[in-house]
Amino acid sequence: MKHDGKRPRIGVLGGGLAGLTAAYRLSESGFDVTVLERDGELGGLAKAINIDGFPIDVYYHHAFSSDAALWGLCAELGLSGSVRWLKSPMGYLTDGKVYQFGTIASLLKFKPLGIADKIRFITSTLKLKSERDLGKLEGFTADEWLRRHAGERVYEVIWKPLLVQKFGPRYDKIGITFIARKVQQRSETRKLGQESLAYMEGSFGLITDALAGRIRSNGGEIRTGANVTRISRDGDALVVEDNKTKTRFDKVVATFAPGVLKGLCDFPAEYRGGLDKLEHMAVICAMLIAKKPVSGIYWLNVGDNSFPFGAVVEHTNLWGPEHYGGRHITYISKYLSPDDPVYKSKDKDILGLFYRHIKRINPLFDGEKDVTKALVFRSMYAQPFITAGYGAIKPGIKTPVEGLYWVSTSHIYPEDRGVNYSIKLGMEVSDLVKRGY
Ligand SMILES: Cc1cc2nc3c(=O)[nH]c(=O)nc-3n(C[C@H](O)[C@H](O)[C@H](O)COP(=O)(O)OP(=O)(O)OC[C@H]3O[C@@H](n4cnc5c(N)ncnc54)[C@H](O)[C@@H]3O)c2cc1C
Repeated sequence: MKHDGKRPRIGVLGGGLAGLTAAYRLSESGFDVTVLERDGELGGLAKAINIDGFPIDVYYHHAFSSDAALWGLCAELGLSGSVRWLKSPMGYLTDGKVYQFGTIASLLKFKPLGIADKIRFITSTLKLKSERDLGKLEGFTADEWLRRHAGERVYEVIWKPLLVQKFGPRYDKIGITFIARKVQQRSETRKLGQESLAYMEGSFGLITDALAGRIRSNGGEIRTGANVTRISRDGDALVVEDNKTKTRFDKVVATFAPGVLKGLCDFPAEYRGGLDKLEHMAVICAMLIAKKPVSGIYWLNVGDNSFPFGAVVEHTNLWGPEHYGGRHITYISKYLSPDDPVYKSKDKDILGLFYRHIKRINPLFDGEKDVTKALVFRSMYAQPFITAGYGAIKPGIKTPVEGLYWVSTSHIYPEDRGVNYSIKLGMEVSDLVKRGY
C-alpha cells in the first residue's frame, strides 16, 4: 500500500468483463476501486437483459472447454454449477440451401464440393489445426494462404463468403492466424468429432452480476451512466472526467476500444498513430423472441453474400425453449464497417429486411406474425480487424501516460476476442497494477 498508509485509488474505466474482472481482483487485494461505466447497465458486449422475467444475453454467447480463465473465474465466483455443456448443431448456407456442417459425416454429404475439394478442405484445415507456431503464419493473409492450400473452389465456396460476412469488402487483408486459431479452438472443444459448447444457465450476465457483487462487498464503488470524456495527469494523480464528475485516481485501468481511448487523452503522436491502426468491425444484431424456430440448427453461417446478414444463431437450439417458457430465441447478426450508413438504419427497416431474407431460409417462418418481440442491438467496436502481421501492431498494456493501463479486445491476439480473453486480460492488468505497489 501507499507510504502515507492510504489505500491506493484505482479507477477502472468500462464495466465489461475485462473492467469488472480487473476491479474485482484489485478490490480483493485491498485497493480502493471505482468503476466508471457509460451505459446504464454493466456487462458491455456480454450484457444480459431481462425479457418477460427471463435473463437473455444481448448478443449470443457460448464458451469453449479451452476457456481456462473463464472456468477458473466461474469456480472462484461459485458459478461452476450453472455451466451447461450442450450439443451445438452447425449449418452452412450456400447456393440457397442449408447444409449441416462441422462434422466429417456432414462434410461427406455436402454437395457443393466434390471429393477432391473435400479432401483439400480437410488437409488444409488439419494443417492449420496442427500449426503450433502461429508466428510462421503471421505474414500471410487468409486469402493467399487458403487459395494456395485449400484450393480455389474450397476458398470460393467456404472461406471467402465467411471472411466477407465478418470483415466486409476488405476481407482479403485478414491474416490466416485468425482462421488458424478459430480452427484450433473448435477442434479443442470436440469430443469424438461432435462439438460441445458451454452455456450458463441464467445467461452470461451471471458473471457480470457476481463480479459486481464482489466488488461492492469489497468496498468498491460502481458508477453506471458515467461517460468518461477525458483522462489527464495532474501532479501525482490521474484525473478522469465523466459527464457527471471529475475524480482523482492514483492509477487508472481503461478497458475501451482504441477508437474511444484515443479521443480521451493527449498521447504522443507516435502512440496515437499506433492506435489509429487498430480497426474494428461494428455489429447489428436482431434478437427475435418467436413462437417457433427458424430451423433445427444452433449456428447457421450464411455463406451466400446476397443475404443481408452473416449468421443466424438460434439460441434455443442450444439451450432449449423450455427454459424460456416455450419462447424461441433467434439472433440475426450482420458485421459491417462502423462508417456504413446501414449501421444507423432504423430498427424497423433492419427487421423488415431480415424478415424478408429469413423467409428464403424457411418460407414458413413469417417474422411479422411469428415474432412476438424483436430488439435490435448495435455495437461500434464489436470485432477487431485482424490483418496479416497484426502481431506487429498489437498494443501493450502500459500506455505512455504514467499510471494509465489499457486492455481491450484489440489486445487479444492470436486468439479471437471472447469473454475468456477479456477476463484473462482483466487479471493480467490487475497483476501489473499490483506489482507497482
Ligand atoms: C455479436 C457478438 C457475439 C459474441 N459472442 C461471443 C461468444 O459466443 N463467446 C465469447 O466468448 N465471446 C463472444 N463475444 C465477445 C465478448 O462479448 C467480448 O469479447 C467481451 O465481452 C468483451 O469484454 P470487454 O470488457 O473487453 O469489452 P466491452 O464489453 O466492450 O466493455 C467495454 C465497456 O466500456 C464501456 N465504455 C465505452 N466507452 C466508455 C466511456 N467513454 N465511458 C465509460 N464507459 C465506456 C462500454 O459501455 C462497455 O461496457 C461476442 C461479441 C459480440 C459483439
